[in-house]
Amino acid sequence: MVGLLLALQATVWLNFLNKLDSNDLISTMSKFLFASLFFIFNSSFSVQLNANQGYSFDDTVFSDMHAHPSRFHRDHIDSIGLAEIELYLSQGMDLVVAAISTDMAFQGNYVTADGVIPRGKYKPLPGESYKLTMERLERIKKTSQHKKAVLALSPNDVLVAKDAEHLSIISAIEGADGLEGNIQNLYTFYEMGLRLIQLVHFRANKLGHVQSYPYSPGGLTKFGKEVVLEANKLNIIIDIAHANTETILDVLEFSKDPVIFSHGGLKSLKDQDRALTDQEVILIAQKGGIVGIWPHGKYIESVSVMVDYIEHVIKLVGPEHVGIGSDLRGVSKYSEGFGSDANFHSIVEEMTLRGYDKPTIGKVMGGNFFSLWQKVVN
Ligand SMILES: [Zn+2]
Repeated sequence: MVGLLLALQATVWLNFLNKLDSNDLISTMSKFLFASLFFIFNSSFSVQLNANQGYSFDDTVFSDMHAHPSRFHRDHIDSIGLAEIELYLSQGMDLVVAAISTDMAFQGNYVTADGVIPRGKYKPLPGESYKLTMERLERIKKTSQHKKAVLALSPNDVLVAKDAEHLSIISAIEGADGLEGNIQNLYTFYEMGLRLIQLVHFRANKLGHVQSYPYSPGGLTKFGKEVVLEANKLNIIIDIAHANTETILDVLEFSKDPVIFSHGGLKSLKDQDRALTDQEVILIAQKGGIVGIWPHGKYIESVSVMVDYIEHVIKLVGPEHVGIGSDLRGVSKYSEGFGSDANFHSIVEEMTLRGYDKPTIGKVMGGNFFSLWQKVVN
């Protein structure tokens, strides 16, 4: 309807300019046709423009709360690749949490310098998980030396990088096995740039217990509690993804700061191991924390379903407690529409279609995570 009116307007305008005999019906009709085509061409162009303008907000830090860009944690590479950094930037993302998963301490499945891929129940020697973590932290540092990316040590670093259109990277560990039970190692990792610690991953470790097979009962260990308190002191963000209910409850009790559950699902929408109950979501939110929705194709089929998840959290606890944890290069199949090319834009589009306003979309796309980091630091 609007298009028709604009085409009519354009016709009148053309007639006015041409000062032609506007009584000539055929001439007017052809001009109307021309104007319509002109409008259709322009409207598709302007929709494109609006979409691009709408998906990266100047005043919001778009953040991916959990990822393994370039598969830097497992492949034999010295840093995160430029192509992956550019992929994030092209999607309007400002900040990515690059997670070093230390479950290889149990599972293997990573490429060594001589191309060997240890698999199965790999048993690291003492010092090996620590060394591996340090080497991955070095990879992230190297990324920031020569690419369009910076190692973000504080929220302010992110704002400076955003102005320069550079990608900020937070160094993180997924499963704190690399600490090897020694709190001094947390300080060493911090010196290396670590700013986020996910306590457990695929196996119960020296800190706590996991939500997936092999299940083990129990919550935070004495060492786990010590790590939580020291992380609070160091302003390191705590991530309770993969933790079982008892461990989650213990962290919520002991941590002075709000925490994130960076990537997972919701049991009320799909009952699976790697998902939170509504009650857990409520408790995380009451503590000021954030639940990250995980575009894993096995559990969340499409971006539309992903937004159903986001919507569920918003209805349950409000828009301040939800975010995105893509797990890029960490899983084999992603939600349709998000895909392995990490189409963060599609989430913005789907939320826009459902009538969410810009501030709400901004919170979900990373504003919440960035605010949490500011709270943890202050
Ligand atoms: Zn994970």
